[in-house]
Amino acid sequence: MRVPAASLAAVLIDVADVSHLQARLGYAASASLLQSLCDGFSKALGARGRVVRMSDGCCCAIVRGVRNHGHAVLAGEKMARTADDVFHGAAINVKPKVHIGVALYPAQATQAEPLLRFAQLAAEACGRRDSRVVVFDEHRDAEAHAPWALGNDFARALETGELSVFYQPKVNIASGTPVGVEALMRWLRDGRPVATPDVFIPIAEGAGLIHSATWYTLSNSLRMSAELAGMSVAVNVTPAMLHHREFIDMVRTALSTWGIGDRRLTLEVTEGALIADFAEATVRLKQLRDMGVRISIDDFGTGYSSLSYFKKIPADELKIDKSFVMGMTKDSSDHRLVRTIIGLAQHFSLQTVGEGVEDRMTFDALAELGCDQAQGYLFAPALSRESLQSWLQTNSRDLRLSI
Ligand code: C2E
Ligand code: CA
Ligand code: CA
Repeated sequence: MRVPAASLAAVLIDVADVSHLQARLGYAASASLLQSLCDGFSKALGARGRVVRMSDGCCCAIVRGVRNHGHAVLAGEKMARTADDVFHGAAINVKPKVHIGVALYPAQATQAEPLLRFAQLAAEACGRRDSRVVVFDEHRDAEAHAPWALGNDFARALETGELSVFYQPKVNIASGTPVGVEALMRWLRDGRPVATPDVFIPIAEGAGLIHSATWYTLSNSLRMSAELAGMSVAVNVTPAMLHHREFIDMVRTALSTWGIGDRRLTLEVTEGALIADFAEATVRLKQLRDMGVRISIDDFGTGYSSLSYFKKIPADELKIDKSFVMGMTKDSSDHRLVRTIIGLAQHFSLQTVGEGVEDRMTFDALAELGCDQAQGYLFAPALSRESLQSWLQTNSRDLRLSI
C-alpha cells in the first residue's frame, strides 16, 4: 500500500511592532496578550495543528492537510481572523498589525529550516504587498532558495549595522534583583526583523560567518559590561564555534580588550556541543573556566546527555529549557521535570536559571523549587543597549514587589 505523503503548512504569525505594544501595555501584559494569541491559534486549529511560540511576538502554526496554494491562503486567513477575535476580546485600545507568511511542506521545502525561513520571508513580504497573508512564492522569492544569498545578505548586515546585540535581564529569584543579562542577536532592517536568530544563526554557520558573528556578539557584550559597571553577561556559543580552533583565543582577546574578569562572562553551550566530541569539549570548557569564564548548559533537558556524561561536564550553571518552564504550572510532568533538573543541579553544586518565565505563578513555582535565577517576558524581553540602561535604572530594586 502506498502511504500518502502528509501535506502541511508552516504558518508564521508575526505581530508587527511588538515594542510599541510593550510600551503601551507593559511587558507582562503584552506577553500575556501574545500568549492568548497563541492559545487562540491552538484552539482555532484543534486537532489539525500545533502552535509553537518562536520569539517576541512571533509564533508558528504547523497545520496538517494543507495541500495547495488555495488551502494555504485559507489557513493564513483563519489565523488572521483568530488574531482579530483575540485582540477584540482583550479590549485593548491598540490594534496590533499581524503579518502572516505561509510555506508548504513538501511542495516548497522538505526540511524544517528552509520551510521556516520561507514562511518568514513570506511574512516579511506582507508589508511590501500590503497584505495580511502572503504564501511563499518560489518564483518571486527565487533568491531565497539559495542559502548563500541570505549568507551574502548576512555578511553585508555585519558591516552595515543591521545586526545588533540585545540584552535580556536575568533576575535573582531570592532577592528579586537583576543580576545579569543574556546577549541575543537581532537582525533588523528599518526597525523590523529580517529573520529570527533560529533562522539566521544556522545560515551564518553555513556561510562560514559564525566566527565573525560570535566575535560581534562577544565584543559588543563585553563592551556593554565594561560600560555598565561590570554587568554580568551570558553569550551563546554554537557547537561548531566551541570547537573552532581560534575560539579560546577569541575569548581571551575579548576579555583583555574590555578588562572583564572574575566570572562576569558566561558562555552558554547546548548539550549538542558536548555530545559531538565530549573529550574535546570538556578540555575546552576547562580552559575557559581557568580563564575565569562561567559555563552554562543551555536548553537543558532537550538534549540527550546521559547522567554518566553529565557528572563530568565542567559547568557552573544549568539553564532549564523554556519549553518545560512555560508548561510547569499547567502540566504536572513538566513540573516534575523542572523539579528533577533543579535537584540534579543542586546535587552537583550547579546554579539554575529558569528561562521563559512569563507570569508570576511560574516565578513562584521556580522559587518554591529553589531555582536561583529567572529570565523571561515577566521582567523584560531582549532590550537594546539603550533600553536596557533605562530598564535597569527603573528596575534595580526588588522586582518581586512589582510583579
Ligand atoms: P536561547 O539561547 O534559548 O534564547 C532564549 C530565547 O527565548 C530567545 O529567543 C528569547 O528572546 C526567548 N525568550 C526569552 N524569554 C522568553 C519568554 O518569557 N517567553 C518566550 N516564549 N520566549 C522567551 P531568540 O532571541 O529568538 O533566540 C533564539 C535562539 O537563537 C537562542 O535561544 C539562541 O540559541 C540563538 N541565538 C540568539 N542570539 C545568538 C547569538 O548571538 N549567537 C548564537 N550562537 N546564538 C544565538
Ligand atoms: Ca541561551
Ligand atoms: Ca535556552
